[in-house]
Amino acid sequence: MKRITILGSTGSIGRSTLEVLALHAQGFEVYALGARRSDDVLLGQCLRFAPRYAVLEDAQAASRLQQALRERGATTEVLAGAGALQQVAAEPQVDMVMAAIVGAAGLDSALAAARAGKRVLLANKESLVVAGELFMRAMREGGGELLPIDSEHSAILQSLPERRERWSEDVREITLTASGGPFRAADPHSLEHITPDQACAHPNWSMGRKISVDSATMMNKALEVIEAHHLFGMPAQRIQVLIHPQSIVHSMVTYHDGSVMAQLGVPDMRTPIAYGLAWPRRIASGSAWLDLARIGRLDFEHPDPARFPGLRLAYEALDMAGGACAVLNAANEVAVQAFLDGGLRFTDIHRVNARTLERLGRCRAPELDALLDLDERARREAAAQARALAR
Ligand code: NAD
Ligand code: MG
Repeated sequence: MKRITILGSTGSIGRSTLEVLALHAQGFEVYALGARRSDDVLLGQCLRFAPRYAVLEDAQAASRLQQALRERGATTEVLAGAGALQQVAAEPQVDMVMAAIVGAAGLDSALAAARAGKRVLLANKESLVVAGELFMRAMREGGGELLPIDSEHSAILQSLPERRERWSEDVREITLTASGGPFRAADPHSLEHITPDQACAHPNWSMGRKISVDSATMMNKALEVIEAHHLFGMPAQRIQVLIHPQSIVHSMVTYHDGSVMAQLGVPDMRTPIAYGLAWPRRIASGSAWLDLARIGRLDFEHPDPARFPGLRLAYEALDMAGGACAVLNAANEVAVQAFLDGGLRFTDIHRVNARTLERLGRCRAPELDALLDLDERARREAAAQARALAR
């Protein structure tokens, strides 16, 4: 019986994780669930999975949840605040932690799980974008296992040699596939008046709003290039991006002998979640079976830099080193939120990101405190840029 803490349990990845766990009640026990402030969704999850702890970052939402659980005679204990998220990620009874909070807000609790030597199921790619070296060091020192949940990185892990020391020797390059999002074929000049709902209507995947906007700008792929660099120790020039609109080939690894290994499946996050939960074994995920004859064809094309200018920012930020990736991530979080709130044009997300990176990308931030300070500065800078561009 493995005990699991799920951070971000009310979100898209969190809910999919619980769906997979519901298929395997004998193998896993939910130890803690954590989220920001959706006490109503968390209440339903607590009644269904009876975790020992439920954590909400927001104190008022936590006391509403406490009350509702008490009225129903449930035994789950409610904790509040960011410190409690770290606590339930690191407790000795916990075997694995699903890190599925969105944004840099997920870094502290993911780091706590890494330091405590847990199996970390990492959906929160921002942890690696903001603090890749620190996070990988914390994993090594903690001695746990890191299983990426991002479908592309799970695919790469599944396509790499089993022995880690072969990764740099045998592999020529890795290729991240990208769907191209809802505007893959749109005229770049038509993108200025895109609304948040249009940007969030992803053709293949159903996801939270932040990552959906990132898919539409392809900033998601930019963050994933940085994520892959840290996860697999691969230099940026050996990480390629290819648009594949059907989202069936989830990514690939090219070897020196000309072989290409890829992982395929229907676009359903329950597959990489099940892989992370059961590794090195395989368990049912609830996803549909791939029917290639019905799909008929798989297409590939290079991303158009005019339509997706954000992609190159990943390579620029990796080249700058220091805190540049943290700056890029912070700028993008602010810009996407401003767009979702109706205060910034879709096409200005890239302007905010590029300008903030240009201003602050050369700042050095070797330790966590300095990185978090830089994250704050980048947020202020990006907010000022967004105000200047506001419609
Ligand atoms: P979502 O918006 O659906 O859910 C986010 C979750 O994080 C919610 O449970 C929310 O309560 C919680 N949260 C947000 N801020 C918090 C805070 N300050 N403290 C505590 N909890 C907080 O997001 P999602 O789509 O599930 O994505 C989660 C993460 O997984 C992101 O890093 C995303 O990039 C990554 N990811 C998602 C998908 C996908 O298919 N949704 C695929 C790959 C990677
Ligand atoms: Mg992905």
